[in-house]
Amino acid sequence: MAVEWIETARAKVNLALHVGGLRDDGYHPVATVMQRLALHDELVIRVEPRSSGDLTIRISADRPGVPTGPENLVWRAVELLKAQLEAAGYGRASVSIHIRKRIPVAAGLGGGSADAAAVLAGFNRRLGLGISLEALLEKAAALGSDVPACLIDGATLCTGRGEKVRPIASPMLWWVLAHPGGRLSTADVYKTFDALREAGTWESESDLEEAIAPLVSALACQGVAQVARCLYNDLQEAASRLHNGIAPLLAEMRAQGAINALVSGSGPTVAAMMPDARTARRAAEALQGKGFWVWWGFSHAS
Ligand code: ATP
Repeated sequence: MAVEWIETARAKVNLALHVGGLRDDGYHPVATVMQRLALHDELVIRVEPRSSGDLTIRISADRPGVPTGPENLVWRAVELLKAQLEAAGYGRASVSIHIRKRIPVAAGLGGGSADAAAVLAGFNRRLGLGISLEALLEKAAALGSDVPACLIDGATLCTGRGEKVRPIASPMLWWVLAHPGGRLSTADVYKTFDALREAGTWESESDLEEAIAPLVSALACQGVAQVARCLYNDLQEAASRLHNGIAPLLAEMRAQGAINALVSGSGPTVAAMMPDARTARRAAEALQGKGFWVWWGFSHAS
C-alpha cells in the first residue's frame, strides 16, 4: 500500500557567520550559529511499493526556479537512502515528492538544505528505515555543508565546513526577513569574499570558534540585547558588493525598529531581529508596502 505524508522543512537564519580562508579541499572553514525559523516548505511525499522495476523518483514544485531533476537536493537525498529503502522493502518503489515552496530560492535561507534534511529524517521515521542520528548526519554532510544542521531543531553551532553540528541553548527570537529581489549564488559570494580578504589576514579554525563564543554565551543566557549585539556575517560585505539592494534594505530595517539586522548566509535576504511581535508586524507591513518579499515570525527556542 502507498504511504503518503507531509513533511515540514524549516528555513534557517545565520545569527553569526565567521569564515576562514579557502582550504585545500575547496571549502571554507566556518563557525556559524543557525536558528530554525517558523518559515517552512512543505513536502508532499508519496511512496508506492511495486513488485517490479527500479526505484523511480519524481519531483515537482509549485514555483518556477526549483529544479525537478537530479540537481534537486531532495532527489539526491532519496538516492542516498537507496540501500536502506531496499532493505525495508521499498527498493522498487515509485517515490513522488511535491515541494510547496515557501522559502525563497538561492536567498541565504537554506531552503534546499532544509528540504533534503526533511527527506532524510522523514523517510527514516515514516518508513522505519532504522538509520541512527549519527548515520543520518553523515548522509546529510555528503549532500551539503548546511544539511546536517537542518536535522536539528532550535539553534546549532556549526564548525568545520559547517557539517560539524552541536545543538545549543537559545531563546525564541522575533524576526523580519526581507528579500530585495534577484538571487545570489553562494559560490559567487565566496569568490568575492576571497578577493576582498588580504593575504595573511585569515583566521584559524580555533580563532573562528573563539569569535563566535560570545554569541553562544549570550544565547545561553537568553539575553536578547546581548544576542543582537553579536549578530555578525563575514559574507555581508561580499554579498552587498554583488547586490546593491542589500545596503538600503539593512538601513530600512533599522529605521523600522530592528534591534540589529544582517544578511542571512550568502544573502541576499536581510534578517532583522525585532524586540517583539508588534514591532515585527509593523515593520513587515511597512516593507511589504514597498514591494519587498517579506516574512515575519519567530525562530525556535532550544
Ligand atoms: P546555500 O545552501 O547554497 O546557501 P541558499 O539557501 O542560498 O543555498 P537554496 O534555496 O538552497 O539557497 O538554493 C540554492 C540552489 O540550490 C538553487 O539555485 C537551486 O537550483 C538548487 N536547489 C537544489 N535543490 C533545491 C530545493 N529543494 N529547493 C531550492 N533550491 C534547490
